[in-house]
Amino acid sequence: MPGAYEVVIGLEVHVELHTASKIFCSCPNRFGSVPNTNICPVCLGLPGTLPVFNKKALELSLRAALALNCKVNSFSRFARKNYFYPDLPKAYQISQYEYPLGGIGSLDIFKDGELVRTVTIERLHLEEDAGKLLHDEEHASSYVDYNRCGVPLIEIVTAPDLRSSEEARLFLETLRRTLLYTEISDCKMEEGSMRCDANISLRPKGSEVLGQKVEIKNMNSFKAVQRGLEHEVMRQTKILDKGGRISQETRRWHEDKGVTSEMRSKEKEQDYRYFPEPDLPPIVVDDTMLKKIRAALPELPVTRYRRLMNNYGLSAYQAEIITSEQSLADFFEETLQNYTQPQKVANWLLGDVLKIINVVAKEINKTLFTPAHLAELLDLVDEGQISGPTAKEILEDCFKNGKMPAVIMVEKGLGQISDTEELERVVAKVLEENKAAVQDYEGGNKKVIAFLMGNVMKITGGKANPQMVTALLKKKLDK
Ligand SMILES: [Zn+2]
Repeated sequence: MPGAYEVVIGLEVHVELHTASKIFCSCPNRFGSVPNTNICPVCLGLPGTLPVFNKKALELSLRAALALNCKVNSFSRFARKNYFYPDLPKAYQISQYEYPLGGIGSLDIFKDGELVRTVTIERLHLEEDAGKLLHDEEHASSYVDYNRCGVPLIEIVTAPDLRSSEEARLFLETLRRTLLYTEISDCKMEEGSMRCDANISLRPKGSEVLGQKVEIKNMNSFKAVQRGLEHEVMRQTKILDKGGRISQETRRWHEDKGVTSEMRSKEKEQDYRYFPEPDLPPIVVDDTMLKKIRAALPELPVTRYRRLMNNYGLSAYQAEIITSEQSLADFFEETLQNYTQPQKVANWLLGDVLKIINVVAKEINKTLFTPAHLAELLDLVDEGQISGPTAKEILEDCFKNGKMPAVIMVEKGLGQISDTEELERVVAKVLEENKAAVQDYEGGNKKVIAFLMGNVMKITGGKANPQMVTALLKKKLDK
């Protein structure tokens, strides 16, 4: 029975750091180049070469450690993790083992504005990425691309604190947002710059002992992580229900089939024969360096999320979407420097603006539409110069040509007629021409006001301010 067990999940997340060059050589750190063009003797592991540590990689991993509240170890060192695989030409990976850069930390995850859990980070360490194998099943051959060899990575390991596949997804989304805000990585799961493996086990509800864990790999999107873990919960539940045992193994998620399958029995740590990397000195982080990096950290997404709710009265839903991208949160707050109603700004952003953003598939700060545009547009609506539907039309134009809303309104003749004298003249004319409708109204059929309004709109080409026309019609008819 699914309800009889408690699910226990821990995650291992690899994140590629957004540096210009690789971690131990000067090759470009770039995704999507022609295979085997960003390589040199160092990252190919040719005999006689020596690694040189990229300072920027250290800076970025320190930012990550601080953003995740990790204790930063003043002394850490690289270690060799020995294993053979065709994508790893040196036959060892330079990683960190006994002395990682980051110690215990934490990350809060929220749902609908409520704290779901404070997830403990067990460690954060630096390492180099391996190359990539490409399998050509048609010709039964495999190719290797070494461009990714030596790309700087951080590995973030959580404690087994997560209790459902949904919590795992929430954690990853929060982590991604945090790393994006701090500009550590572009965190594109589809390009492999953020990758997640999960350890999952089940135990009888109420038990304190951890069950046998299984590692799941190859989950390449947030959705895949959630689905892969859900599938694994079902698989393990079935085995346990029949009195079976879970074997310690690594399983691979198949997105197309929606199942996991056995990859290999899990290596143990001693299989890697870790030892200190003799070609690199230990990393020493002093207080001055740490202070400087801490001072340069931006406001983190979790803090901003709560501040937007508290300061502007946004709902948890609104705050979550607005803080999902730093540029969107910046846009929101910059608009409020020229316009004072946060709810209206949030409604426009979450509605029509995001609709266009999704179509153009760009971050808002990379479009022609600016906070000044939105503030002016909302002012025009508030002043009754344009109607809601006209505002939407102008909004689309702003994205296309970057002109200010008032300019577009004048150029296209979209302004609403809010001139009382002019409207009074039109209303008088309509009443004069529709005497039968006026009599109907006086006879108690109040609905004909809509018909009269329609005539006013016809004469004005739809530009009459509807609130003013309604008021004028009522004033005339009710006297
Ligand atoms: Zn290189």
